[in-house]
Amino acid sequence: MSRFWSPIVAGLHPYVPGEQPRIPDLLKLNTNESPFGPSPTVAEAMAAESGDSLRLYPDPEAMALRETLAAYHNVRPDQVFVGNGSDEVLGHAFSALLKHDLPLLFPDIGYSFYPVWCGLLGISYETVPLDEAMRVRTEDYRRPAGAIILANPNAPTGIALSRAEIAALLAEHADIPVVVDEAYVDFGAQTCIPLIAEYPNLLVVQTMSKSRALAGLRVGYAIGDAGLIEGLTRVKDSFNSYPLGRPAQAGAIASVKDEAFFQTCRLAVIEARDRMVAGLSRLGFEVLPSSANFVFARHPGRSGGDLMRALREKAILVRHFEKPRIADFLRITVGTVGQVDRLLGALAEILGRNS
Ligand SMILES: *Cc1c(COP(=O)(O)O)cnc(C)c1O
Repeated sequence: MSRFWSPIVAGLHPYVPGEQPRIPDLLKLNTNESPFGPSPTVAEAMAAESGDSLRLYPDPEAMALRETLAAYHNVRPDQVFVGNGSDEVLGHAFSALLKHDLPLLFPDIGYSFYPVWCGLLGISYETVPLDEAMRVRTEDYRRPAGAIILANPNAPTGIALSRAEIAALLAEHADIPVVVDEAYVDFGAQTCIPLIAEYPNLLVVQTMSKSRALAGLRVGYAIGDAGLIEGLTRVKDSFNSYPLGRPAQAGAIASVKDEAFFQTCRLAVIEARDRMVAGLSRLGFEVLPSSANFVFARHPGRSGGDLMRALREKAILVRHFEKPRIADFLRITVGTVGQVDRLLGALAEILGRNS
């Protein structure tokens, strides 16, 4: 608290990131990072941009990276926007596209950063409850709205809508912007990028933090109609013209170009997830169907908070949200097969069962 704060600061409810503590032998399954490193080509490309060239500002338009992403996703560079992590891209989308007289709609259980940006930017919003199966029901969004945002797959449930379901939502809401946050799409959901040609109200946001193992680099991007991208660019250039340094732009390009490495890691996570879901089910957990690199699960016999603390005693971190409807659940990041087995062994001990 300081008397020098602007009036808005005391009323903010900032996002609380998952913790990054230093504990020996720690198994970190709490922030959905990749258990694998990035493509080795990333470090090489970054090293080449970490010498004398650092004297010079980076390309403010990040044209080489946008061209690489455009080619990869089969769109034009003027349909691509890049930023310092998808959190920054989303933050700019809230400013540029989601602030209207009518409320912004998003699921009651979703990415907990959305209400935080609304608070910062003075955006009015309404949450729409997930159904009993913890799914987004698109019919429930038929109400007066200024815009819609949802994560697909949703976080922290991991449940995905199909592209056809999102297309129906877009068609019903053709007059308002719809942002689809695809942070986890590479782990088994369908991307909506092919829909941007037909729906100029659609902005798809993706990140290199999860499936490309680059959480530490901070690169995210959005794909949509050139008009939407121009709006984002106006906000960006009113805030920070150089959100991505030279090493970040070079590293991100190298990652996109190493398709074989990307596919190998992505498929390894999906395989380890299958093993984790099967193991948790054997231990009596109810596991929601996940299309992400985490699972959302609850045990009928033990509260989420209890299990989270018991795992922490064994140096395993998982995420627990002390919130209505989801306090019983744990969100557990999928690691390597070895890490999954360590988690299952620890849970079996805690629950007093054989895994
Ligand atoms: C992790 C995450 C993000 C943000 O990722 P960045 O590291 O900022 O790119 C955005 N949306 C959801 C749903 C996420 O889980």
